[in-house]
Amino acid sequence: MARITLRQLLDHAAEHDYALPAFNINNMEQGLAIMEAAEAVNSPVIIQASRGARNYANDIMLARMIDALAEIYPNIPVCMHQDHGNGPATCATAIQYGFTSVMMDGSLKADAKTPADYDYNVRVTRAVVDMAHWVGASVEGELGVLGSLETGMGEKEDGHGFEGKLGHDQLPTDPDQAVEFVKTTQVDALAIAMGTSHGAYKFSRKPDGAVLAMGVIEEIHRRLPNTHLVMHGSSSVPQEFIDLVNKYGGNMPNAKGVPEDQISMAVRNYGVCKVNIDTDLRLAMTAKIREVFATKPAEFDPRNYLGPAREAITKMVQRKLHMLNSAGKADEITRHWEKLGRPLPRYYSKPKAA
Ligand SMILES: [Zn+2]
Repeated sequence: MARITLRQLLDHAAEHDYALPAFNINNMEQGLAIMEAAEAVNSPVIIQASRGARNYANDIMLARMIDALAEIYPNIPVCMHQDHGNGPATCATAIQYGFTSVMMDGSLKADAKTPADYDYNVRVTRAVVDMAHWVGASVEGELGVLGSLETGMGEKEDGHGFEGKLGHDQLPTDPDQAVEFVKTTQVDALAIAMGTSHGAYKFSRKPDGAVLAMGVIEEIHRRLPNTHLVMHGSSSVPQEFIDLVNKYGGNMPNAKGVPEDQISMAVRNYGVCKVNIDTDLRLAMTAKIREVFATKPAEFDPRNYLGPAREAITKMVQRKLHMLNSAGKADEITRHWEKLGRPLPRYYSKPKAA
């Protein structure tokens, strides 16, 4: 009932000066925690699932879980998004299972590890746009390869990410190419590469302009002021959670993320409307579970460690919703649609079985 597409959500965000964090899920605790947080601060949300998550949870389980979350929280507009689709089939099946938005990541080939050339990227992204737009779903494309500008290395997440080492000519998004890419493919949002990478080890030190290329976003936004930009790998990896993990038996030395003030700046000034955050939720969850195991070694009821973990995720999600200023906007979206004289849209009709 309250499902919304990425395009509808990001159009509203761009118009009202805020951005949406996109949170990855693969289980019930994460799903409930995210929605609890969204309801508490009256924010719309983007929930996304990678191919790895779809494999882990099973498509049917994920689809029913999203149905359940939308039913439990009817007032929260929720966009269900495929993270890093590796080909048209992945995107098509996501839409079949109720996703309202897909990412076609044509920066890598279908094996999700070989960097692809520009023509391949355009071809495969355009094919997905044609297909998704038939049924009203949105498409995020990616130009440039996500990876560290410090080391030239990618960080594999859920089996996705290039292998080996790439040069500065291949990693960051080329602003000229971005203009042509958006025009040719007609994507609804564009993920750009500017030095962020997936995981908890994005930088070896607090990042400066050489390794976190904010100038790239600035330039792309200047040339494409009406395109919704997406930052991937944008967890902040808060030190207090790394400390907790390490205090309770973990081993995560030197984990570093994207500073929250840099993300806020990109949202305020450079057209960034969607910020992907996965690691921070994993960290919050893991830190809490470790704490329970370390301080209550006799505990063996999963609810007594998954419950606190869920609360930790809820707090982290609230922090992000406030940071990106989407808190307070759920009602506004509903009112916006009411003003147009119709309820929040059902974005598409489910395909009929052949
Ligand atoms: Zn990503």
